[in-house]
Amino acid sequence: MNSLYSLIFALLFAHGANAVEFKVREGVDFSKLDKYQKIYSLPYLASRIHNVFQHPTLDKDEIGKYLKWGEAGLTIMANPNEEPALAIKTNYFLEYGGHSAPTESVNCFKKSRNPFRPLKGLKVALDPGHIGGKFSKLEKKYVLMDGGRIDFNEGDLNYYTALKLKLMLERAGAEVFMTRGKESAALGSFDDWFSIDKNIMDAYDSWRLAKFGAHKDAEGRLADIALFKAERETTFYVFFGREEMRKRADLINEFNPDFTLLIHYNGYPGEYNRQGVQTRKTRDEHGQNVGTNTQNYNMLFVPGSFMKNELNEKHTQFHFLKLLLDNKIIDGSIDLCTDLLGSVMKKFKDLKTADYGDPYYTADVSLPIVKKDGQQLRGIFHRNLDMLRFLNAPSCYMELFVQDNFEEAEILNTNNAKLKQHRVPKKILNVARSYFKGIKKYFKAKTCK
Ligand SMILES: [Zn+2]
Repeated sequence: MNSLYSLIFALLFAHGANAVEFKVREGVDFSKLDKYQKIYSLPYLASRIHNVFQHPTLDKDEIGKYLKWGEAGLTIMANPNEEPALAIKTNYFLEYGGHSAPTESVNCFKKSRNPFRPLKGLKVALDPGHIGGKFSKLEKKYVLMDGGRIDFNEGDLNYYTALKLKLMLERAGAEVFMTRGKESAALGSFDDWFSIDKNIMDAYDSWRLAKFGAHKDAEGRLADIALFKAERETTFYVFFGREEMRKRADLINEFNPDFTLLIHYNGYPGEYNRQGVQTRKTRDEHGQNVGTNTQNYNMLFVPGSFMKNELNEKHTQFHFLKLLLDNKIIDGSIDLCTDLLGSVMKKFKDLKTADYGDPYYTADVSLPIVKKDGQQLRGIFHRNLDMLRFLNAPSCYMELFVQDNFEEAEILNTNNAKLKQHRVPKKILNVARSYFKGIKKYFKAKTCK
């Protein structure tokens, strides 16, 4: 692994903060959290942070260094690197209250009276991950095996899955928003974006702060930016992709859905043992397949599990507090996503769900979800992916199958069904059907009182 690649690799699994002028940042108004003043007790807040947000492996005190537990309340401290003039500054003060459990129940749906439109009134956002098509090489999200005979990309699979699901949901009366079209970015053309230096500078600054917890001096900054400008592919992969996610999160929050489904198929550059040592390499630094994965499994992510440097910026602190205090977002995600994964597993019985720590990287980047009886949920983990952190309603970040698995790749490469005018793999239509079934069943059972 060369150093640039390892940098990018690290970035991929430590989604950080951002400083570009999108609403995820502009919308930071700590007073929006004032309604949670004097509600939760210190023991509740501390245990919730420990169980849902505090990833243990990287740095035990990563979250703690921004928090000051006082007698009357909790203080959130600014990062001195972000605001060097103010070595110690308070961003927010939350006064303790008496509640020692979440105050709000999750996900209910006002039942439709129209039997032909059972989901009328439900608002669903669908985010087909990545961009796909001709961008799939730039975004390193493609599968190319067996001398080119197997040749497909995840962005397209995600898009067709979302499109099929959208059609089914709409037929059932739901209102659906999709973050992108086929082979298109929510941010518009990459070349237009790339031509504006300010875009790259802002994205660089935010990336650096997220990655290293500090800005760089002006000279070093310009030198780095020149380097990134010269590397169009890297700029796309590292910067444009991050800004694209923030744009999508803004669009989803504007739509104000009941929940968001982030649609992905899994792909991974290799297999690792429990100690994190690579035992099999499946992709090189360009995302090109150099081997096949022997494993195949399903999993999904819900918000939580903050990692190193992820509370550096004011806006990430705001979203952290939002997720901590509005229990409907995370508890609602777990409740809904458990059902959705169950629906998928019913359809694909031969596949297993991932365990926490197997594949290894789940333990590296995510936290397990422990039920009241002490059992861990299978296949569902907290993870602080950008999209999940910024969304204001429940969300499931689906990661089905392993595309690098040869048998799976064969299936996903076979366009044996039709969706509108497109030839697509039948299997992804079945995925969409299982999502639809799961959603319908879930909301049928969740009538608002
Ligand atoms: Zn993906």
